[in-house]
Amino acid sequence: MTKMLEVVNLKTHFYTDKEIIPSVDGVSFTIDKGQTTAIVGESGCGKSVTSYSIMRLVDSPGKIVDGEVIFEGKDLTKISEKEMRSIRGNDISMIFQEPLSSLNPVVKIGKQLNETLILHQKLTKKMAKQRSIEMLNKVGLPRADKIYESYPHELSGGMRQRVMIAMALACSPKLLIADEPTTALDVTIQAQILKLMKGLRDDFDTSILLITHDLGVVAEIADKVIVMYSGQVVEEADVFSLFANPRHPYTKGLLNSTPHLDDEKDDLEPIKGNVPSPANRPTGCSFHPRCPYVKAICRQESPNLTSLGDSNKVRCWLYEENQEELFYAENIGR
Ligand code: SF4
Ligand code: MG
Repeated sequence: MTKMLEVVNLKTHFYTDKEIIPSVDGVSFTIDKGQTTAIVGESGCGKSVTSYSIMRLVDSPGKIVDGEVIFEGKDLTKISEKEMRSIRGNDISMIFQEPLSSLNPVVKIGKQLNETLILHQKLTKKMAKQRSIEMLNKVGLPRADKIYESYPHELSGGMRQRVMIAMALACSPKLLIADEPTTALDVTIQAQILKLMKGLRDDFDTSILLITHDLGVVAEIADKVIVMYSGQVVEEADVFSLFANPRHPYTKGLLNSTPHLDDEKDDLEPIKGNVPSPANRPTGCSFHPRCPYVKAICRQESPNLTSLGDSNKVRCWLYEENQEELFYAENIGR
Protein backbone atom coordinates (compact mmCIF):
# COMPACT_ATOMS: atom_id res chain seq x y z
CA MET A 1 0.00 0.00 0.00
CA THR A 2 1.31 3.46 -0.87
CA LYS A 3 1.61 5.92 1.97
CA MET A 4 -0.28 9.16 1.37
CA LEU A 5 0.53 10.93 4.61
CA GLU A 6 2.49 10.04 7.70
CA VAL A 7 2.07 11.56 11.14
CA VAL A 8 5.11 10.97 13.34
CA ASN A 9 5.12 11.61 17.08
CA LEU A 10 2.91 14.68 16.70
CA LYS A 11 2.53 16.87 19.77
CA THR A 12 0.12 19.80 19.86
CA HIS A 13 -0.14 21.65 23.13
CA PHE A 14 -2.37 24.47 24.32
CA TYR A 15 -0.89 27.11 26.61
CA THR A 16 -3.16 28.81 29.12
CA ASP A 17 -2.22 31.01 32.08
CA LYS A 18 -2.63 28.11 34.43
CA GLU A 19 -1.51 25.04 32.56
CA ILE A 20 -0.20 23.34 29.46
CA ILE A 21 -2.71 21.03 27.84
CA PRO A 22 -1.06 18.30 25.74
CA SER A 23 -4.15 17.73 23.56
CA VAL A 24 -2.20 15.67 21.06
CA ASP A 25 0.61 13.90 22.81
CA GLY A 26 2.91 11.85 20.62
CA VAL A 27 0.48 10.61 17.97
CA SER A 28 1.75 8.53 15.03
CA PHE A 29 -0.11 6.86 12.17
CA THR A 30 -0.14 6.60 8.39
CA ILE A 31 -2.86 7.20 5.84
CA ASP A 32 -2.65 4.99 2.75
CA LYS A 33 -3.58 5.96 -0.77
CA GLY A 34 -7.24 5.47 -1.67
CA GLN A 35 -8.07 4.28 1.85
CA THR A 36 -10.22 5.65 4.63
CA THR A 37 -8.49 6.02 7.96
CA ALA A 38 -10.82 6.83 10.84
CA ILE A 39 -9.87 8.44 14.13
CA VAL A 40 -12.39 7.58 16.83
CA GLY A 41 -12.86 8.45 20.46
CA GLU A 42 -15.19 10.44 22.70
CA SER A 43 -15.09 14.21 22.44
CA GLY A 44 -12.03 15.68 24.09
CA CYS A 45 -9.77 12.82 23.02
CA GLY A 46 -7.76 14.98 20.59
CA LYS A 47 -9.25 13.79 17.30
CA SER A 48 -10.07 17.19 15.88
CA VAL A 49 -6.89 18.79 17.13
CA THR A 50 -4.98 16.05 15.31
CA SER A 51 -6.74 16.87 12.03
CA TYR A 52 -6.32 20.62 12.49
CA SER A 53 -2.65 20.03 13.21
CA ILE A 54 -2.25 18.15 9.92
CA MET A 55 -3.81 21.14 8.12
CA ARG A 56 -1.76 23.51 10.29
CA LEU A 57 -4.94 25.28 11.33
CA VAL A 58 -4.38 25.17 15.08
CA ASP A 59 -4.90 28.65 16.47
CA SER A 60 -3.16 30.27 19.40
CA PRO A 61 -2.94 29.35 22.30
CA GLY A 62 -2.44 25.99 20.56
CA LYS A 63 0.88 25.11 18.98
CA ILE A 64 2.48 22.12 17.30
CA VAL A 65 5.48 21.59 19.55
CA ASP A 66 7.00 18.42 18.14
CA GLY A 67 6.69 15.75 15.50
CA GLU A 68 6.31 15.59 11.75
CA VAL A 69 3.52 15.43 9.21
CA ILE A 70 5.07 13.98 6.07
CA PHE A 71 3.20 14.55 2.82
CA GLU A 72 4.88 13.86 -0.50
CA GLY A 73 8.30 14.01 1.07
CA LYS A 74 7.70 17.33 2.82
CA ASP A 75 7.20 17.92 6.52
CA LEU A 76 4.07 20.09 6.62
CA THR A 77 4.98 21.38 10.08
CA LYS A 78 8.11 23.00 8.61
CA ILE A 79 7.12 24.45 5.21
CA SER A 80 6.24 28.11 4.63
CA GLU A 81 2.70 29.39 5.15
CA LYS A 82 2.50 30.15 1.43
CA GLU A 83 3.34 26.57 0.49
CA MET A 84 0.91 25.28 3.11
CA ARG A 85 -1.89 27.44 1.68
CA SER A 86 -1.38 25.93 -1.73
CA ILE A 87 -1.43 22.41 -0.28
CA ARG A 88 -4.66 23.24 1.57
CA GLY A 89 -6.38 24.32 -1.60
CA ASN A 90 -5.09 21.70 -3.98
CA ASP A 91 -3.88 18.58 -2.23
CA ILE A 92 -5.66 18.35 1.12
CA SER A 93 -9.26 19.54 1.65
CA MET A 94 -11.36 19.54 4.76
CA ILE A 95 -15.08 19.27 5.50
CA PHE A 96 -16.68 19.93 8.86
CA GLN A 97 -19.70 18.95 10.90
CA GLU A 98 -21.78 22.07 10.27
CA PRO A 99 -21.50 23.17 6.65
CA LEU A 100 -23.46 26.35 7.28
CA SER A 101 -20.57 27.80 9.24
CA SER A 102 -18.11 27.09 6.44
CA LEU A 103 -20.29 28.51 3.66
CA ASN A 104 -20.65 32.23 3.13
CA PRO A 105 -24.35 32.96 3.82
CA VAL A 106 -24.58 35.94 1.47
CA VAL A 107 -22.89 34.43 -1.58
CA LYS A 108 -24.64 32.03 -3.94
CA ILE A 109 -23.44 28.41 -3.95
CA GLY A 110 -22.26 28.60 -7.55
CA LYS A 111 -20.17 31.68 -6.96
CA GLN A 112 -18.52 30.11 -3.90
CA LEU A 113 -17.63 27.00 -5.88
CA ASN A 114 -16.33 29.07 -8.78
CA GLU A 115 -14.14 31.15 -6.49
CA THR A 116 -12.48 28.01 -5.13
CA LEU A 117 -11.83 26.73 -8.63
CA ILE A 118 -10.57 30.05 -9.98
CA LEU A 119 -8.26 30.56 -7.01
CA HIS A 120 -6.76 27.08 -6.82
CA GLN A 121 -7.17 25.61 -10.28
CA LYS A 122 -6.67 28.84 -12.21
CA LEU A 123 -9.76 28.13 -14.32
CA THR A 124 -11.50 30.81 -16.38
CA LYS A 125 -14.94 31.91 -15.18
CA LYS A 126 -16.66 29.90 -17.89
CA MET A 127 -14.70 26.74 -17.21
CA ALA A 128 -15.26 27.17 -13.47
CA LYS A 129 -19.03 27.34 -13.94
CA GLN A 130 -19.01 24.20 -16.04
CA ARG A 131 -16.90 22.34 -13.50
CA SER A 132 -19.03 23.61 -10.57
CA ILE A 133 -22.24 22.30 -12.09
CA GLU A 134 -20.50 19.05 -12.93
CA MET A 135 -19.40 18.68 -9.29
CA LEU A 136 -22.89 19.48 -7.95
CA ASN A 137 -24.20 16.73 -10.21
CA LYS A 138 -21.50 14.32 -9.04
CA VAL A 139 -22.52 14.71 -5.40
CA GLY A 140 -26.03 13.71 -6.35
CA LEU A 141 -27.80 17.05 -6.04
CA PRO A 142 -30.95 17.21 -8.15
CA ARG A 143 -31.26 20.28 -10.42
CA ALA A 144 -27.63 21.27 -10.05
CA ASP A 145 -28.26 24.40 -12.16
CA LYS A 146 -30.84 25.54 -9.61
CA ILE A 147 -28.59 24.79 -6.64
CA TYR A 148 -25.86 26.78 -8.39
CA GLU A 149 -28.09 29.85 -8.15
CA SER A 150 -29.16 29.23 -4.50
CA TYR A 151 -28.01 30.72 -1.23
CA PRO A 152 -26.85 28.32 1.52
CA HIS A 153 -29.95 28.93 3.73
CA GLU A 154 -32.21 27.80 0.90
CA LEU A 155 -30.81 24.27 1.14
CA SER A 156 -31.32 21.50 3.71
CA GLY A 157 -28.49 20.33 5.97
CA GLY A 158 -27.90 17.25 3.85
CA MET A 159 -27.79 19.31 0.65
CA ARG A 160 -25.35 21.76 2.22
CA GLN A 161 -23.07 18.91 3.22
CA ARG A 162 -23.16 17.67 -0.38
CA VAL A 163 -22.21 21.17 -1.52
CA MET A 164 -19.30 21.14 0.95
CA ILE A 165 -18.15 17.78 -0.41
CA ALA A 166 -18.43 19.12 -3.97
CA MET A 167 -16.35 22.11 -2.94
CA ALA A 168 -13.78 19.95 -1.15
CA LEU A 169 -13.45 17.61 -4.11
CA ALA A 170 -13.59 20.27 -6.83
CA CYS A 171 -9.81 20.53 -6.89
CA SER A 172 -9.36 16.72 -6.83
CA PRO A 173 -7.47 16.65 -3.53
CA LYS A 174 -5.30 13.68 -2.71
CA LEU A 175 -6.55 13.68 0.85
CA LEU A 176 -9.95 14.67 2.22
CA ILE A 177 -10.18 15.33 5.95
CA ALA A 178 -13.76 14.98 7.18
CA ASP A 179 -14.43 16.03 10.79
CA GLU A 180 -17.75 14.53 11.97
CA PRO A 181 -19.20 15.11 8.47
CA THR A 182 -22.52 13.41 9.20
CA THR A 183 -23.02 14.13 12.90
CA ALA A 184 -25.51 16.96 12.36
CA LEU A 185 -27.59 14.96 9.87
CA ASP A 186 -30.41 12.50 10.42
CA VAL A 187 -29.72 8.81 9.94
CA THR A 188 -31.08 8.42 6.39
CA ILE A 189 -29.18 11.43 5.08
CA GLN A 190 -26.10 10.30 7.01
CA ALA A 191 -26.17 6.96 5.17
CA GLN A 192 -26.51 8.75 1.82
CA ILE A 193 -23.58 11.05 2.53
CA LEU A 194 -21.36 8.15 3.61
CA LYS A 195 -22.26 6.24 0.46
CA LEU A 196 -21.44 9.32 -1.57
CA MET A 197 -18.05 9.76 0.14
CA LYS A 198 -17.24 6.10 -0.48
CA GLY A 199 -18.16 6.38 -4.14
CA LEU A 200 -16.15 9.55 -4.61
CA ARG A 201 -13.16 8.04 -2.80
CA ASP A 202 -13.19 5.12 -5.22
CA ASP A 203 -13.80 7.26 -8.34
CA PHE A 204 -11.15 9.86 -7.53
CA ASP A 205 -8.79 7.55 -5.60
CA THR A 206 -8.86 10.09 -2.78
CA SER A 207 -7.63 9.12 0.66
CA ILE A 208 -9.95 10.05 3.50
CA LEU A 209 -9.16 10.90 7.10
CA LEU A 210 -12.44 10.61 8.94
CA ILE A 211 -12.86 12.04 12.43
CA THR A 212 -15.85 10.61 14.28
CA HIS A 213 -17.17 9.53 17.66
CA ASP A 214 -19.57 7.14 15.92
CA LEU A 215 -18.48 3.54 15.42
CA GLY A 216 -21.49 2.96 13.18
CA VAL A 217 -19.96 5.44 10.73
CA VAL A 218 -16.58 3.74 11.08
CA ALA A 219 -18.07 0.33 10.23
CA GLU A 220 -19.67 1.87 7.15
CA ILE A 221 -16.64 3.49 5.54
CA ALA A 222 -13.27 2.95 7.27
CA ASP A 223 -10.43 0.66 6.26
CA LYS A 224 -8.16 1.44 9.19
CA VAL A 225 -9.10 2.72 12.63
CA ILE A 226 -7.09 4.77 15.10
CA VAL A 227 -8.63 4.89 18.57
CA MET A 228 -7.59 7.96 20.58
CA TYR A 229 -7.94 8.52 24.30
CA SER A 230 -6.80 11.61 26.18
CA GLY A 231 -4.48 12.80 23.43
CA GLN A 232 -2.87 9.45 22.66
CA VAL A 233 -3.42 6.52 20.32
CA VAL A 234 -4.56 3.53 22.38
CA GLU A 235 -5.35 1.13 19.55
CA GLU A 236 -4.73 0.89 15.83
CA ALA A 237 -6.37 -1.87 13.79
CA ASP A 238 -7.88 -2.68 10.43
CA VAL A 239 -11.62 -2.23 10.58
CA PHE A 240 -12.42 -5.96 10.54
CA SER A 241 -10.24 -6.90 13.47
CA LEU A 242 -11.34 -3.83 15.40
CA PHE A 243 -14.95 -4.99 15.36
CA ALA A 244 -14.30 -8.74 15.53
CA ASN A 245 -11.57 -8.60 18.12
CA PRO A 246 -11.25 -5.24 19.89
CA ARG A 247 -8.21 -5.33 22.16
CA HIS A 248 -8.07 -2.18 24.24
CA PRO A 249 -10.59 -1.99 27.09
CA TYR A 250 -11.52 1.51 25.87
CA THR A 251 -12.30 0.18 22.38
CA LYS A 252 -14.38 -2.59 23.94
CA GLY A 253 -16.23 0.05 25.97
CA LEU A 254 -16.91 2.14 22.86
CA LEU A 255 -18.27 -0.91 21.05
CA ASN A 256 -20.49 -1.87 23.98
CA SER A 257 -21.97 1.61 24.03
CA THR A 258 -22.68 1.87 20.29
CA PRO A 259 -26.33 1.31 19.40
CA HIS A 260 -25.85 1.02 15.61
CA LEU A 261 -24.03 -2.26 15.94
CA ASP A 262 -26.41 -3.96 18.29
CA ASP A 263 -29.80 -5.39 17.55
CA GLU A 264 -30.69 -5.68 21.19
CA LYS A 265 -30.43 -2.08 22.19
CA ASP A 266 -31.16 -2.69 25.84
CA ASP A 267 -27.80 -4.26 26.62
CA LEU A 268 -25.90 -1.06 25.84
CA GLU A 269 -23.36 -0.17 28.46
CA PRO A 270 -21.98 3.34 28.41
CA ILE A 271 -18.42 3.70 29.66
CA LYS A 272 -18.56 5.06 33.18
CA GLY A 273 -16.86 8.37 33.95
CA ASN A 274 -15.42 11.01 31.65
CA VAL A 275 -12.40 11.53 29.44
CA PRO A 276 -9.76 13.19 31.62
CA SER A 277 -8.35 16.49 30.42
CA PRO A 278 -4.89 15.81 29.02
CA ALA A 279 -3.72 18.50 31.46
CA ASN A 280 -4.74 16.33 34.40
CA ARG A 281 -4.12 12.92 32.97
CA PRO A 282 -4.20 10.20 35.63
CA THR A 283 -0.88 8.57 36.46
CA GLY A 284 -0.02 5.34 34.67
CA CYS A 285 -2.55 4.35 32.02
CA SER A 286 -4.81 7.35 31.49
CA PHE A 287 -7.82 5.05 31.11
CA HIS A 288 -7.28 3.35 34.47
CA PRO A 289 -9.99 5.14 36.50
CA ARG A 290 -12.59 3.88 34.00
CA CYS A 291 -11.13 0.48 33.17
CA PRO A 292 -12.82 -2.71 34.35
CA TYR A 293 -9.54 -4.64 33.93
CA VAL A 294 -7.33 -2.25 35.91
CA LYS A 295 -4.26 -3.79 37.62
CA ALA A 296 -1.88 -2.26 40.12
CA ILE A 297 0.74 -1.53 37.48
CA CYS A 298 -1.84 0.38 35.41
CA ARG A 299 -2.07 3.04 38.12
CA GLN A 300 1.66 3.58 38.22
CA GLU A 301 3.21 3.06 34.83
CA SER A 302 2.06 4.13 31.44
CA PRO A 303 1.92 1.28 28.88
CA ASN A 304 3.55 1.63 25.44
CA LEU A 305 1.83 1.30 22.11
CA THR A 306 2.81 -2.29 21.29
CA SER A 307 2.62 -4.14 17.97
CA LEU A 308 0.57 -7.31 18.05
CA GLY A 309 2.30 -9.34 15.37
CA ASP A 310 -0.20 -8.30 12.70
CA SER A 311 -0.32 -4.63 11.71
CA ASN A 312 -2.39 -3.83 14.78
CA LYS A 313 -1.19 -2.02 17.89
CA VAL A 314 -2.50 -1.54 21.39
CA ARG A 315 -1.47 0.53 24.41
CA CYS A 316 -2.42 -1.61 27.40
CA TRP A 317 -0.62 -3.61 30.07
CA LEU A 318 -2.74 -6.66 29.26
CA TYR A 319 -0.80 -6.97 26.01
CA GLU A 320 2.69 -5.88 27.00
CA GLU A 321 5.31 -8.52 26.39
CA ASN A 322 6.82 -8.05 29.75
CA GLN A 323 4.30 -10.08 31.67
CA GLU A 324 6.67 -10.36 34.62
CA GLU A 325 5.91 -6.85 35.70
CA LEU A 326 2.24 -7.53 35.36
CA PHE A 327 2.62 -10.66 37.43
CA TYR A 328 4.55 -8.71 40.03
CA ALA A 329 1.95 -6.00 40.10
CA GLU A 330 -0.92 -8.42 40.37
CA ASN A 331 0.60 -10.67 42.98
CA ILE A 332 3.05 -8.68 45.02
CA GLY A 333 2.74 -5.01 44.20
CA ARG A 334 -0.77 -4.34 45.42
FE1 SF4 B 1 -7.05 -1.02 31.59
FE2 SF4 B 1 -4.61 -1.34 32.58
FE3 SF4 B 1 -5.05 -1.72 30.00
FE4 SF4 B 1 -5.12 0.72 31.03
S1 SF4 B 1 -3.34 -0.61 30.91
S2 SF4 B 1 -6.57 -0.14 29.62
S3 SF4 B 1 -6.04 0.34 33.02
S4 SF4 B 1 -5.88 -2.92 31.69
MG1 MG C 1 -14.22 17.30 17.39
